[in-house]
Amino acid sequence: MPRPRPLIAGNWKMHGTLAEAQALACGVVACDAAAELLVCPPFPHLHPVAAALAGSAVALGGQDCHHAAKGAHTGDVSAWMLRDLGASYVILGHSERRADHAESDALVQAKAVAAIAAGLRPIICVGETLAQREAGQAEPVVAGQLAGSLPPGFAEAGGVVAYEPVWAIGTGRTPTEADIAALHASLRAEVLRLCGAQGAGLRLLYGGSVKPGNAKAILALADVNGALVGGAALMAADFLAIAAAA
Ligand code: PGA
Repeated sequence: MPRPRPLIAGNWKMHGTLAEAQALACGVVACDAAAELLVCPPFPHLHPVAAALAGSAVALGGQDCHHAAKGAHTGDVSAWMLRDLGASYVILGHSERRADHAESDALVQAKAVAAIAAGLRPIICVGETLAQREAGQAEPVVAGQLAGSLPPGFAEAGGVVAYEPVWAIGTGRTPTEADIAALHASLRAEVLRLCGAQGAGLRLLYGGSVKPGNAKAILALADVNGALVGGAALMAADFLAIAAAA
């Protein structure tokens, strides 16, 4: 199986003004990297960022969606709304949402079902806490999250899995390359078990303190098919340097 085309996804989280989001989008459209590029702005910035990306090869994504297609859900955003604005991806089950909003695997799975129904590709995030890693539980924790969160038809819908150790997010700390490789090998095995042969081409991203300085080594690892980038995605030059390393 040839390696899938890498995906370099920028998770802008809850950062920036509208003007900053537009400037960042304008800064990344010039990219001519071989990797696929994706930016996921905060909801209020999606529409203007879509306009800034128009005609470019950079894809647009949301950072979350509701599990219902529509209805009385004050403050929520549906997958259909994201699709209507031009999004093609949505990040689901990020550890910050699992922590801030008590999102369970079952809820993440329901959201992924809604995303697929709307024509979006879900990027499902999994990852262990530091205590779980130190207890030698990283692989079983992540396998449990995958089993609970991946919906039927995930691989066919172009779904993506992002492995993000909670303790590596925004901390400047990363697992060793050997630890990332071992975890991604176990992810691949789980995805093959859950999705069948289609899981062979499913992209597995690493996320957590990816920067221009460590991107090349991480992206060269077997079964690392791209990166989910937070802090370093807020500077166009850094994001493009990571994309160039893929
Ligand atoms: P970070 O965030 O790159 O700032 O560690 C990654 C993420 O949370 O997706």
